[in-house]
Amino acid sequence: MPRIYDLHMHSTASDGAFSPTDLVERCALAGITSLAVTDHDTTQGLAEARVAADAHHVELISAVEISTSWRDQSVHIVGLRIDEDCDVLQRGLLGLQTIRRERAAEIGARLARAGLAGALEAAQTLAGPGMITRMHFARHIVQCGRARNVKTVFERFLTPGKPGYVATQWAEPAEAIRWIRQAGGVAVLAHPQRYKISATARRCLVEEFKEAGGIALEVVAGTGHAPDIDSNAAVARRFGLAASVGSDFHSPEHFWLRLGNLPSLPAGLVPVWEVW
Ligand code: AMP
Ligand code: MN
Ligand code: MN
Ligand code: MN
Repeated sequence: MPRIYDLHMHSTASDGAFSPTDLVERCALAGITSLAVTDHDTTQGLAEARVAADAHHVELISAVEISTSWRDQSVHIVGLRIDEDCDVLQRGLLGLQTIRRERAAEIGARLARAGLAGALEAAQTLAGPGMITRMHFARHIVQCGRARNVKTVFERFLTPGKPGYVATQWAEPAEAIRWIRQAGGVAVLAHPQRYKISATARRCLVEEFKEAGGIALEVVAGTGHAPDIDSNAAVARRFGLAASVGSDFHSPEHFWLRLGNLPSLPAGLVPVWEVW
């Protein structure tokens, strides 16, 4: 039986719509054999996901998606095969969790000034015990009828220059990579095509990522658009990085592919699961 990988997905431990149990079950039904639950800055969903993975006979890869800042840009680094009990990792994540809470309060205050009172409380309710993210604010604003969909909310309220945007200093990429390595995991640069930076800056980012000990690029990421895959593959080859595959699944409404149907890696790349 060929293995089918999806190494980037979210549960209710951050901004995914499904609980870890439901997410794993959907993956199993979709034929995925190895999946990584990569919640934003938390490993809180992994214990539950592991129980479900055992029940469904799929492989769960312990993972996390860490928020970092690189030159005013927020850059995500996925840690795969981490030991979630590692103190260094958990201390690092704790700092980001505090930043998330403080940022959410500031987002709420700014949205209130822009005429959206009560958004913080509503976003906190939607997040429950999970990490609070901009996605929770976006879902609330859609639910109260102030925007048609989440994408519109980001465009109108939550991105740079918009009333609810809060510039945030996350971890340094090298720091996040260090936490991941200390936890015995491998660091993957998530969705490289999504950063709004020049081609030159992208090369610098990848170079620094590799120098700091990162080992793979998410070559098949998110939408799975062929031109994105090709350009990510070219960067991976040029820098001698392994390649990962991740849907970044959050919920069926904001999803572009059927689970379990990610395009395969282009030829000539070393899959991350061969080097971890
Ligand atoms: P945060 O980490 O709190 O800044 O929230 C970022 C999350 O919001 C991402 O992981 C995505 O799930 C979501 N997101 C960011 N930008 C957009 C966008 N333009 N449209 C839809 N979702 C977005
Ligand atoms: Mn997200
Ligand atoms: Mn991301
Ligand atoms: Mn993600």
